[in-house]
Amino acid sequence: MTASSRSAPALVLFRRDLRLADHPALSSAAATGAPVIPVYILDNETPGRWRPGGASRWWLHQSLRSLASDLEARGSRLVLRRGDTERALLDLIEETGAHSVFFTRGYEPFQRALEGRLKSSLEARGVSLRRFGGQILVEPESLANLAGEPFRVFTPFFRALSQRGAPSTPPPPDTLAAPDRWPRSDVLESWSLEPTKPDWAGGLRAAWAPGEKAARDRLALFIETGLPSYPARRDQPGTDGTSRLSPHLAFGEIGPRQIWHAVKAAAEAGGDEAAAEAYLREVGWREFSYHLLFHFPHLPDEPFRPEFAAFPWRDDIDALEAWRRGRTGFPIVDAGMRQLWQTGWMHNRVRMVVASFLIKHLLLPWQTGEDWFWDTLVDADLANNAASWQWVAGSGADAAPYFRIFNPVLQGEKFDARGEYVRAFVPELARLPASLVHKPWTASATALREAGVTLGETWPHPIVEHTAARARALAAFAFVKK
Ligand code: FAD
Repeated sequence: MTASSRSAPALVLFRRDLRLADHPALSSAAATGAPVIPVYILDNETPGRWRPGGASRWWLHQSLRSLASDLEARGSRLVLRRGDTERALLDLIEETGAHSVFFTRGYEPFQRALEGRLKSSLEARGVSLRRFGGQILVEPESLANLAGEPFRVFTPFFRALSQRGAPSTPPPPDTLAAPDRWPRSDVLESWSLEPTKPDWAGGLRAAWAPGEKAARDRLALFIETGLPSYPARRDQPGTDGTSRLSPHLAFGEIGPRQIWHAVKAAAEAGGDEAAAEAYLREVGWREFSYHLLFHFPHLPDEPFRPEFAAFPWRDDIDALEAWRRGRTGFPIVDAGMRQLWQTGWMHNRVRMVVASFLIKHLLLPWQTGEDWFWDTLVDADLANNAASWQWVAGSGADAAPYFRIFNPVLQGEKFDARGEYVRAFVPELARLPASLVHKPWTASATALREAGVTLGETWPHPIVEHTAARARALAAFAFVKK
């Protein structure tokens, strides 16, 4: 390295890796000894359907503020720009004389396309582009099945992943050398990522603390108090039985490698190995989703199994709206949709129930549910969202069979036996006893009166009848099999 390139700054482009620890791109930039200029670009080239939704924009605002303050504590800053990523980087290179750009690779088709464009345009100008992993445990090109092809089945995938383990995680740099002159930065507030009128984010603020430190604290607390009971409670939406790390992971405030090592270490220190294994298996599903998205980039848009392309979906805006607003009349479905609307998150078991209801009871395309989740989830993640919707639809890789049609009443009674989850999000039904809270339409007039419920007024009649809806779904599926 020449003297001039040592003093020329390095740009570190942050994307979905809004953290300082376990950030190989940042650590490597810092290790060059060059001044480091951390940059975040609010891009305008992500395809419209996959621009951050409302809940993600709210989270992004908080997360960027937190990252900026963590960088300031190390004598650095976060430079904010908006526009076309390539153009913004070229401007910054010209303004700062940077010789290199360090970044964490992405797996979304549009991120990969961007990386391809950056490679040619930056390298043509003599600027080195340095790409690092960090968003997932193992790079998708380096895992293949016995035939040398991408995995399509989870269990052998997870076995291969577990044998690899996770790469080590670099600590956050203590200090970051600052450039002689900082380039101009946008003011975060000018991006209007947070809602104003109406300010619908009150429930999100009450439920979440975005940022790297909060993510680390949540992991530590979960390992200490939640992990031992994870296998028993992870399917009970009325309890705090899962880690709720998903939005932190989606924004890269914590990396899966940190989680992997921390959970393994807890098991080795005498913790419950089965619980650790059960938890890492779920992290493994996230990896599998990324593996699928990388090798099958059409996953967010088209059925993985092509025979589903001809599925006879319905078009019913009223039913879709009832589902979105939590007004289907099925308490577990409506509680889930309201948890999503209020807090930007929904328990995994209930995600499966509401998705199955949309796809199978209402026969509405899984992509409409995928879009709604994209807009309303704080953990919206292209790989996980697409793979999970296709899993429920039966059109995905290693998916639930299409004919497995959840009965929302039985799901509620099994996983929310005391009705705590429904009561928390559906106050209209809070006074019904557990035996009726998942099927208020079966209650006697007296039981309804005592609970203050009037069917069709304070609580909607079910918008479909389960047995008939099931038969209709199976008939539609027969069409696929032809
Ligand atoms: P935990 O049970 O504590 O699991 C730990 C981590 O493992 C999660 O944070 C997540 O990163 C990963 N994980 C857990 N379950 C799954 C799973 N089934 N598939 C993939 N990864 C998993 N997850 C998202 O992160 N973003 C999404 O946009 C998303 N959309 C979904 C849509 C549908 C229809 C369904 C059924 C599931 C979806 N999931 C999505 C997966 C799962 O519901 C969430 O990851 C999980 O509920 C997050 O809560 P947690 O962090 O407490 O999970």
